[in-house]
Amino acid sequence: MTDELLAVRMDFDELVLLLRKIFISHGTSAFVADILAANCAGCERDGALSHGIFRMPGYVASLKTGWVDGRADAEVSLVSPSFIRIDACNGFAQPALAAAAGAIDEAIERTGVAVVAIRNSHHFSALWPDVEPFARKGLVAISFVNGLANVVPHGGHTAVFGTNPIAFATPVADAEPLVVDQATSVMANGEVRLHALDNQPLPPGTGVDSSGAATTDPHAVLAGGALNTFGGYKGSSIALMVELLAGALTGGQLSFENDFGHCVGAQTPKAGQLLIVIDPDRGGSTDFSQRAALLCKHLVEAGQDRLPGARRYKNRHTTQTSGIPIAKNALSELLQMATGGAASSS
Ligand code: NDP
Repeated sequence: MTDELLAVRMDFDELVLLLRKIFISHGTSAFVADILAANCAGCERDGALSHGIFRMPGYVASLKTGWVDGRADAEVSLVSPSFIRIDACNGFAQPALAAAAGAIDEAIERTGVAVVAIRNSHHFSALWPDVEPFARKGLVAISFVNGLANVVPHGGHTAVFGTNPIAFATPVADAEPLVVDQATSVMANGEVRLHALDNQPLPPGTGVDSSGAATTDPHAVLAGGALNTFGGYKGSSIALMVELLAGALTGGQLSFENDFGHCVGAQTPKAGQLLIVIDPDRGGSTDFSQRAALLCKHLVEAGQDRLPGARRYKNRHTTQTSGIPIAKNALSELLQMATGGAASSS
């Protein structure tokens, strides 16, 4: 029987409600539950499956062990007209960012740019939900996040970097925003876990085992091994930049400084996030989104088969009409978690 036959279909709001219930029953505030549930359901809806419902046991484990504070109230300070500093107070990054929404809008209105430095934050999701809404308001946004040390520097043998993603979003005239969202490792860690669940080998060059030897076995990468950065030494240097921007400039932790200590089973990395939002109209171009559209047109004419973000938008469109497919066993697990029950590890 195919997975499709074993799946139920839920609409977005229904899934948000279920996930919200899980967060609340594991002790988060309603504010945090609203934001994380919409974020996680959005990933599932868009087919960003490495950060959809598959992540719920990890969220629950981190909440249960007390590693993350699901009721934290982020402290937002304006340190200059365009520089916003956020102490997430050991809470999740997305509610911390939401708490600064008004300050970001005001900084952009006044100065054309907002630099947002978030520290003491747990980011366990995709980055596109953080940047896409800015592009929908006509703004350009770029964000960097560090995490847990599970990536070796180029030529190295010990994990130092997180998978350190970068996301970029820009408005495009008469089209959906263009959103690029990628790890600086060859593959996101969540993808490795999905390969491990399916017992699927990784493409050659993805990672190393605990002895530092190249491997295509996802279990070996997860059991003390590590991922490689993308693009050889150049990708490694980009991961280095993300590490410093997200982990150090913000006043947060570097990826290798994460220590779960007594919180056995916790999964969310305690790290940092840097977000820069720019009003493109202040940059000298009077028709920035038209220029972006022109570039996209040339990319397609040059043979690029699809633009970044296009797969997600296609999935979003499809699931809006046909519902979000959820495997029956995954649904049972979600229902169990919604009653405060233990989750199996993702
Ligand atoms: P992918 O390699 O799957 O995709 C990276 C980007 O490239 C996406 O914008 C994707 O668009 C685009 N893309 C993919 N294929 C093509 C193509 N053929 N032509 C043009 N564009 C293409 O992502 P990663 O595995 O690197 O990362 C997955 C997710 O993991 C990201 O959302 C990232 O934020 C998240 N992550 C989160 C971390 C955290 O600490 N919170 C750590 C690391 C990763 P599309 O989305 O439409 O496929």
